[in-house]
Amino acid sequence: MRISWPKTAVLCLLVIVLLSSCKSAPKEVQRTEFLMDTAITITAYGDKAEQAVESAFVEMKRVADLMNANDPNSEVALINKNAGIKPIKVSSDTFELLERCQWYSELSGGAFDVTVRPLVELWAIGKKDKYVPTDEEIQQVLKLVDYRKIELDPKEKTVFLPVPDMGIDLGGVAKGYGADRARNILKKQGVHSALIAAGGNIWTVGQRPDGKKWRIGIRHPRQETGDELLGVLSCQDLAVVTSGDYERYFVKDGVRYHHIFDPYTGFPAQSLVSVTIVSTDSAEADILSTAVFVLGVEKGLALTDQLDNVGTIVMTPELKVFTAGSYLSELELMHEKGENR
Ligand code: AMP
Ligand code: MG
Repeated sequence: MRISWPKTAVLCLLVIVLLSSCKSAPKEVQRTEFLMDTAITITAYGDKAEQAVESAFVEMKRVADLMNANDPNSEVALINKNAGIKPIKVSSDTFELLERCQWYSELSGGAFDVTVRPLVELWAIGKKDKYVPTDEEIQQVLKLVDYRKIELDPKEKTVFLPVPDMGIDLGGVAKGYGADRARNILKKQGVHSALIAAGGNIWTVGQRPDGKKWRIGIRHPRQETGDELLGVLSCQDLAVVTSGDYERYFVKDGVRYHHIFDPYTGFPAQSLVSVTIVSTDSAEADILSTAVFVLGVEKGLALTDQLDNVGTIVMTPELKVFTAGSYLSELELMHEKGENR
């Protein structure tokens, strides 16, 4: 059958309309909430984004309510309040995360240690005014820092800190864990493109809505404005987690005192200024970013070398960059690489 010109024109128009509707940008939903002492932003794309982002925040709030030691009603606060008194029954989330923390504490030789709470409270970085504790105060508090003393009962799902004044602080892992949970919910609810930014914890879900990889900028640790970058990593379906000495700190007599503590000395770790870990598990990446920060270049990279599928980017106080491991083939560095580890 011959199609007359007007009919062809109508058909063409229809095809153009259909094609343009296919190409129109997917719906973007962006929401920010303040949880775990951090502004958390989720940006998600597609028809299911609205509901999925809502559910992801409900889940992150649940995790924050369990694990924020600064919230007197959290499970962690309850464990701490009962140190030296009695074991506390906890959720599977808290119990299993503490088990994982113990594993990484062993692996890192105690560089990552969630019993740093008494050190966190003594220094109170950002709360007290440029306060450097005395050696005596630090030695006193260090007696309470030892992950091996945490008693975990897998049958009863209880946690016990056997020494009074001991305390757990999940500040080095809870945001990463929360981001993993949020990411799983977005995926389960049909979101194929999203970005979760929880402080230094980033989850790239799928690709960007234009089908390209996400480009994640790693902040240069010595740029106060945050404009200059250490590097940019193109990636998808990966967690990119950074620990830096620029988040919470003060400078006294030329020394920068910040919030990541070396559990051996009781002082803020001084060997590195920034550590980024890339992994498919942001709780793992969060733990490792803190652990490597404490360990320094040599021991830190030796630690991540032992693990499969982890990428590591570190910067020394001399502003030299070292990289190792997986997922870094599309890393653009804006800074000089160091030569020997
Ligand atoms: P992040 O920014 O992920 O490196 O975590 C830093 C937070 O982890 C601090 O604010 C403390 O709450 C906690 N923290 C500090 N030092 C350690 C450590 N050596 N091991 C485990 N957690 C730590
Ligand atoms: Mg961490």
